[in-house]
Amino acid sequence: PIQSEQTAVTAAASAAYRNDRAHVVHSWSAQASLDPVVVAGGSGSRFWDESGRTWLDFSSQLVNVNLGHQHPKLVAAIQAQAERLCTLAPYHANEATAEAARLIAQAAPGDLDKVFFTSGGAEAVENAVRVARHHTGRVKVLSAYRSYHGATAGAISLTGDPRRWGAEPGMPGTVKFWGPYAYRSAFHSDSEAQECERALAHLADVLMVEGPHTVAAIVLESVVGGNGVLVPPDGYLRGVRELCDRHGIVMVADEVMVGFGRCGEWFAIDRWGVVPDLITFAKGVNCGYVPLGGVIISERIAQTFAHRVFPGGLTYSGHPLACAAAVACLNVYREEGLIERVRRLGEELVRPALEQLKSRHPSIGEVRGLGMFWALELVRDPASREPLVPYNATGADNRPMAEFAAACKDRGLWPFVHFNRVHIAPPLNISQADLRTGLDIIDEALNVADRYLVQ
Ligand code: PMP
Repeated sequence: PIQSEQTAVTAAASAAYRNDRAHVVHSWSAQASLDPVVVAGGSGSRFWDESGRTWLDFSSQLVNVNLGHQHPKLVAAIQAQAERLCTLAPYHANEATAEAARLIAQAAPGDLDKVFFTSGGAEAVENAVRVARHHTGRVKVLSAYRSYHGATAGAISLTGDPRRWGAEPGMPGTVKFWGPYAYRSAFHSDSEAQECERALAHLADVLMVEGPHTVAAIVLESVVGGNGVLVPPDGYLRGVRELCDRHGIVMVADEVMVGFGRCGEWFAIDRWGVVPDLITFAKGVNCGYVPLGGVIISERIAQTFAHRVFPGGLTYSGHPLACAAAVACLNVYREEGLIERVRRLGEELVRPALEQLKSRHPSIGEVRGLGMFWALELVRDPASREPLVPYNATGADNRPMAEFAAACKDRGLWPFVHFNRVHIAPPLNISQADLRTGLDIIDEALNVADRYLVQ
């Protein structure tokens, strides 16, 4: 019987694989070169394929399963809501949506008390831009190079990385600026403090020549995520806030990746005590068990739409199943003290462990991050900081990173690798033992990267 069960499992896996390859188009990939793992299930910080190969998830999928896979409280909340009411037109009110909005407003800083729900991060960014444009009566939106804001028309236009190229020319009225990144400074700074000062002076210059009275919003990630875990220097976000205040510009903090505990705060921007006008969120709000995102809107800006029609709408806005998952998720963060845990473990365990790795592996150019959100930037030459692979490398050019990723996967770790960086973003509730296991695997896999160092 064991034999035939295994045969059935293998057959199911290969049918899923065949159907996938025949019919599913995957995001951001050349389809012919794909060889996806058929995932059969997951639990906590692990997931597995049909043959039982298991990986420790150091990517939290796309930095969304903050509570790991199949958290029983989220699964139960979704099941209970499914039995009550699966879906609802957004002009109705319901308990799950109202409670999710209350909990989000409670977690958000300052007077950010109103929530417009979307189905994901890109839609959140689209709606934040729309709100800012209607509120100010202005059109232009500034965003940073080395940013990601989503793949829909407006959000991809704000994105400052190669994913934008295929969607150009994009949305009119978008303008790019350089944010702070001391390790590869656009301003030739030699300290974090200088980088902060020069990045703010640069942004003020961009505003001056664009005409500040034409700018509706500045959209920026509180901590840049997919483009390298760029933690802004102290003073930067406050400086952006001051520029926005001076010119009546709406400050939009994109917290899609870093909101809800990832950086050891409810919202990453809380670390600097800065209150933006709008926050975009998704992912960690409900771990992505059911698609959900949204914009948190200050009371002041929400007033604009008290007697004027809100300029956006979605069939699935405030989806009850997604919001029921959010309620359960936000309650777990609070009840289990996870946000404090992340802040503590980040400083006490992860930062020292990664600094140790850096002392052993000369291919690590820089360690950056906070909470459960880190990146190792890999280089060929620590002196010149030449990246281990060229920017946007594919194929043979990308071999060192591909080999690093394969070395992790062979050892049972699912890494998040992007350009010349290893991102470390495990579930927020990962056990300390699993965290150490994962870091040990990265340690071993880094020997692969070290082989590519220039002699
Ligand atoms: N903003 C940021 C900062 C993100 O990281 C992402 C997704 N990685 C998005 C927006 C887009 O979210 P989604 O993929 O849910 O549309």
